[in-house]
Amino acid sequence: MARAKEGAADQLDAVDRRLLDILQRDWPLNARPFAAIGETLGLSEEEVLARLRRLKVPGKRALIRRIGAIFDTTALGYKSTLIAMQVPRDAIERVAAAVNHQPGVSHNYQRDHAWNLWFTLAVPPDEDLETTVEALVKETGGYPYRLFPALRVFKIGVQLDMESGDPSPVVTPQQSRVPAAPTARDRAFIRELQEDIDLIPEPFAPLAERLGASQEEVLRWLQESKAAGWLRRFAAILDQRQAGYVANGMAVWRVPEDCIERLATVAASLPQVSHCYQRPTYPDWPYNLFTMIHARSKEDCRAIARRISQETGVSDYAILFSTREYKKERPKYFAPAQGVTTSESQRLHAEAQRYMPGGVNSPVRAFLAVGGEPLFIARGEGPHVYDADGQRYIDYVLSWGPLILGHAHPAVVSALKEAVERGISYGAPTALETELAKQVVEAVPSIEMVRFVTSGTEATMSALRLARAYTGRSKIVKFEGCYHGHADFLLVRAGSGVTTLGLPDSAGVPEGIARDTLVAPYNDLQAVDRLFGENRGQIAAVIVEPVAGNMGVIPPEPGFLKGLREATRAEGALLVFDEVITGFRVAYGGAQFLYGVTPDLTCLGKVIGGGLPVGAYGGRRKVMAMVAPLGPVYQAGTLAGNPLSMTAGIETLRVLAQPGTYERLEESSARLAAGLRAAAETAGIAVFQTRVGSMFCTFFTAERVVDYASAKRSDTDRYARFFRAMLASGVYLAPSQFEAGFLSLAHSAQDIERTIQAAEQAFAALSG
Ligand code: PLP
Repeated sequence: MARAKEGAADQLDAVDRRLLDILQRDWPLNARPFAAIGETLGLSEEEVLARLRRLKVPGKRALIRRIGAIFDTTALGYKSTLIAMQVPRDAIERVAAAVNHQPGVSHNYQRDHAWNLWFTLAVPPDEDLETTVEALVKETGGYPYRLFPALRVFKIGVQLDMESGDPSPVVTPQQSRVPAAPTARDRAFIRELQEDIDLIPEPFAPLAERLGASQEEVLRWLQESKAAGWLRRFAAILDQRQAGYVANGMAVWRVPEDCIERLATVAASLPQVSHCYQRPTYPDWPYNLFTMIHARSKEDCRAIARRISQETGVSDYAILFSTREYKKERPKYFAPAQGVTTSESQRLHAEAQRYMPGGVNSPVRAFLAVGGEPLFIARGEGPHVYDADGQRYIDYVLSWGPLILGHAHPAVVSALKEAVERGISYGAPTALETELAKQVVEAVPSIEMVRFVTSGTEATMSALRLARAYTGRSKIVKFEGCYHGHADFLLVRAGSGVTTLGLPDSAGVPEGIARDTLVAPYNDLQAVDRLFGENRGQIAAVIVEPVAGNMGVIPPEPGFLKGLREATRAEGALLVFDEVITGFRVAYGGAQFLYGVTPDLTCLGKVIGGGLPVGAYGGRRKVMAMVAPLGPVYQAGTLAGNPLSMTAGIETLRVLAQPGTYERLEESSARLAAGLRAAAETAGIAVFQTRVGSMFCTFFTAERVVDYASAKRSDTDRYARFFRAMLASGVYLAPSQFEAGFLSLAHSAQDIERTIQAAEQAFAALSG
């Protein structure tokens, strides 16, 4: 190609030109690409970068249009087509603008022909191209249109020769491979890598950080995606107009079938021809071969077409020059689009709602209390979760408490892998159950014997059945706002999702069943005494969360737990600590160890299953001896004590038992709580910050929160706005004011600092 002599190219020196030629070719994939490129030119890394910063100015039309990964639309599973429309002259601006609105339209030109609007459209693998086109046409006025999908690709892409003037065509043969479908992780990589890389010595470093991967992983992924055919090349693309090639003509040819190859070969060999495709014909459109010609003038374009015609003997052709460029950008793959299409989480939620109530299997997950769409999670690692759109969040939900070691802890994962290999469940005793039982008995002061079940709900339900059997009484005392799972008789003034949804009770609970459940305000010993006074000899048990964790986090007031111990003992009732959350969370021995109060029965769950389904209840040998098969209280479970839950629990407790773990949790939790409180104070937002060990809550209220009534006076709208702002900054808090936040051993000081910074911004936005 003749050296470009117009536009920004005028200001180039010889080194710039050589640099641009190298940059347009496929780069070496390497952590320091600019150093490697500099080496071939005898330039330092800094000089390469300085030149590039001159040639590519962010936000301006510069000689380098983009620089980064160039993906292949078809190989990624996208379906694409060129579309021509006949639009009346007075409507073309409006129609072009409407077409541009459609995600997936990357190029859109007005051309001087009866078919006057030409645009390309690509739709993701799960969308139907024809349906999208039909909707778009209807939306834009229903004008006549023709689809021109590529039937054969002879050449794609253009490399402008800036130095030698030698033609150096880039000929891409047609792809015949069946492409693999990108996974959610691949999509996240594609989304990041399709953006321009930063002009810094290690351009993959910020990308890797955003992806939660190492630079080596990013480079390896690029190599693999090239092998898969997704990545065409990693290179720079120049702006043809800035390089001086201001005329753009689409030459279309009517070529006899047996001549197509010949004409395509001649055209593709010309560097001025960037693209060459065979496309379908119609009764009113006889041209079957399309060539894009770039030159410095229309006259030059015509001369090139003439040359192709003369060399091939094909004389029936037309050149459609572009008269307006409405859009010219690379397609954005797997991008959450504005308005029309949705994020992957939204799409998955919409689909889930067709098959499951609310699209979820536990109500709080639906985000009803905070608005917006729930995140669909694709994976977790350490303190982070990644949603289906590949976004990373610092996670303070941690599966609602169990993951005290963080996500996918290596010791737990590897023990589970081995356990799975040995069989998933036997329905017969295993040594694993005894091992976990021993760990529990050794750790929890009140437990001499334990029974494993598969959920916290089962644990509390069974423990209270046992308490009723042991005492021969039927009434139970619970506290307002405490949640003990969803057994009928415990769904009375319960917290958690029940509070979130504003349901004091659940529908479907017969009155007769609820009648035996008496309720007192949390932290109110007098109310408990009153209930004992009114129900002498009838109360089997008092059940309590020793730290309330289902109406936010409310610590017990000094003396409250001790007072319950004394009252129950005096009245011949059992004291049941529901330590489903607090067990192995606030201390290795749970809240009973922390506060020095020993209940009769203890319920466990969450942490003791390391993230797998589990529950447990235990207590004094004499009481537990009443459970079947030793005693008359029936309770059973197909998957109770299953080897996988036991394994995850054993490994988790092993890690937790190491010296210093709770001190570390205490330190990071204290830092976080103090940071949140200070951030709110700085912004002038009234909050009441609570924390016990690694459980925390920021109540949006100025008053002290000690019970359900005071918790309910929090400004839940404010919490919802705070939650959304934190989410937008990559921090995943519980999607309700009335849930606990949790920390894990995987949360680093840096994660905590980032969270506090996000909170500073979120609080500032609330006060504005
Ligand atoms: N008890 C408490 C204190 C809980 O927080 C929960 C659940 O969050 C349960 C019991 C019920 O446990 P599960 O959801 O495993 O049935």
